[in-house]
Amino acid sequence: NLLQVDEAVRHFPLKGRAGAVHAVDGVSLTVRRGETLGLVGETGCGKSTLARLICRLDDLTGGRIVFDGRDITRLSRRELAPIRRDVQMIFQDPYGSLNPRRRVGSIIGDPFAIHRIADGRDRRRRVKELMELVGLNPEHYNRFPAEFSGGQRQRIGVARALALRPKLLVCDEPVSALDVSIQAQVINLLDELQDLLGLTYVFISHDLSVVRHVSDRVAVMYLGRIVEVAPAPELYARPRHPYTAALLSAAPVADPDLADRRQRILLSGDVPSPVDPPKGCRFHPRCPKAQDRCALEEPHLVSRDADPESHATACHFPVDSTSELVAA
Ligand code: SF4
Ligand code: MG
Repeated sequence: NLLQVDEAVRHFPLKGRAGAVHAVDGVSLTVRRGETLGLVGETGCGKSTLARLICRLDDLTGGRIVFDGRDITRLSRRELAPIRRDVQMIFQDPYGSLNPRRRVGSIIGDPFAIHRIADGRDRRRRVKELMELVGLNPEHYNRFPAEFSGGQRQRIGVARALALRPKLLVCDEPVSALDVSIQAQVINLLDELQDLLGLTYVFISHDLSVVRHVSDRVAVMYLGRIVEVAPAPELYARPRHPYTAALLSAAPVADPDLADRRQRILLSGDVPSPVDPPKGCRFHPRCPKAQDRCALEEPHLVSRDADPESHATACHFPVDSTSELVAA
């Protein structure tokens, strides 16, 4: 495994009162070398916070993160420097992180400057190579961010993230701000780069169809915890957690025949507050299968068969067929 997260916790204390936002509340996962792990869940489920913990842009309240065989949970700023090269992040809105008054060549070359790796003509040469790698015209080195389209700006973000030859790329909603036609281009680029450079991805999105397309395995988050993880085809064909089944039933499908035949699972209520998450199973106030035990006992991720990596679900009463959840 390239990355191992053990019982990671991140609570944000509330100002002026007792309590905390339980943004990430006991997450364990592994990411294997060369794979793409998809991370899905609704807004506020903790996926972006988890991404920042993995990149060590934020401190953990509890738990542990092991990267490439090394415990990076409590490293000092200085000790983190090499990790910062190996783990890079790509954001939803690359434009927000591109200074409009600077030329893209110098923006992409920032990592070389910060880590004092290359300067002058060497830096310029490397930046042009990176531009070529991500499908940008190196002759546009001196242009400004505003002179590029949304898809090209995401390519600029990717080029900058790749400058230091990272091992792991954490992509937080990398295509959510782009038109569907451009989304495919950026996803194909990420796919090619993964093969070419042997990269490992954590791919975060609320868009289930994008995640299905890019991921080898998918983890589903709800209220700060992972409720299910499985190989992508397995998860989409046979969701076992009632929440996963509900999410999938609500996702738009491209095939109209399928959309007609598919039954929606309706959930009652909204996602509860992460300040005071429900006891027992966090999903129990909304779950169509909930029973007494669910409010008392917190379910842990348990795999279905002997292979612990195959298909794990945190539910006392996993579903066998989605139809059992559809309201009569
Ligand atoms: Fe529903 Fe109970 Fe499973 Fe939670 S543990 S998802 S409440 S059936
Ligand atoms: Mg988010």
